[in-house]
Amino acid sequence: MSTDDHPLHPEFDDPDRVENVLRPRLLEDFLGQEQVKDNLRVFIRAARERGESLDHVFLSGPPGLGKTTLATIMAHEMGTDLRITAAPALDKPKDLAGILTSLQEGTVFFIDEIHRLKASLEEMLYVAMEDYEIDWVIGQGPSARTLRVPLPRFTLVGATTRPGMVASPLYTRFGIPIRLDYYSREELGSIIRRSAAILEVRIEENAVEALADSCRGTPRVANRLLRRMRDFAQVLAQGVITTSVVYQGMERLNIDRHGLEEQDRQILRAIIEMYGGGPVGAETLAISVGEELDSLEVFYEPFLIQQGLLQRTARGRIVTRRAYQVLGMPESTPPVEGEHREDQGSLF
Ligand code: ADP
Repeated sequence: MSTDDHPLHPEFDDPDRVENVLRPRLLEDFLGQEQVKDNLRVFIRAARERGESLDHVFLSGPPGLGKTTLATIMAHEMGTDLRITAAPALDKPKDLAGILTSLQEGTVFFIDEIHRLKASLEEMLYVAMEDYEIDWVIGQGPSARTLRVPLPRFTLVGATTRPGMVASPLYTRFGIPIRLDYYSREELGSIIRRSAAILEVRIEENAVEALADSCRGTPRVANRLLRRMRDFAQVLAQGVITTSVVYQGMERLNIDRHGLEEQDRQILRAIIEMYGGGPVGAETLAISVGEELDSLEVFYEPFLIQQGLLQRTARGRIVTRRAYQVLGMPESTPPVEGEHREDQGSLF
């Protein structure tokens, strides 16, 4: 299944259409991630007091955790404008140069998927970030000359789901590195309550908790499921989201009480049934379950690892004992335990 026809995939539907209403504009409305917010509040205030632009920010973490939202908030809190693009949309040096030369003083320039930036553009960005200028070659052959074009002091916000793929000369030019991690159920609960209030839908407290357990630690998924539960509640339960609406709704969407959906279970089952619990290489696994490698590594695996169901080892992926329990499968081939544990932390 491709990422864009996937109901739970954070990139599933048009973000402009559905997300803008729920997207927080101020730091105080950005719920959870307290340490990130505390630090950012200081950096923003300090930059404002000095009348400077905010230092360049590097945002990493799985999709749907609030990277774009944070960039929006930074621009808002700094009182500057925001330009949003994604690295795959920047093809030629002139694409990047065109944007850079049109920025204002302090503009927050957000580049999503920065790990996919082409090498030739990356070099332009180095100089732009450090010296606030770019070298532009005019003409061709012997008559070509290089023009140094000054840029306003902008703030680059680079976001990635794969920080390990970002070249270190680029990474080290960001003054503020921020890593977003999955949200706790309490944080998700607050996000669900806030969104329900904005959408003007009533939700019982127990239902908030049930929903928080099922949304993969991801605000975007929480909001998406909330909207689906609103539909179920409207048609099946007089408009109030109760626990029974959530449980029935989840069943209809094929999401179990651990927040696992069919494709998650499929991945775990494939490792057990086809590879004796693992280890199996990521590429082989992706083919076995008909998933794109990128989607497997960025969307499914981080959550399965965080849930303690899967481990990434030097030899490949292995399921944990808990995976057998969650799937209700006998441990005919016990998983390897205690080996290569150092790999567990290196999600990205
Ligand atoms: P990313 O850029 O990391 O993929 P987004 O910034 O687009 O994720 O966030 C997805 C949606 O989730 C946003 O539209 C917003 O409504 C919601 N969201 C994300 N983080 C938070 C948060 N901390 N508090 C409230 N809502 C959030």
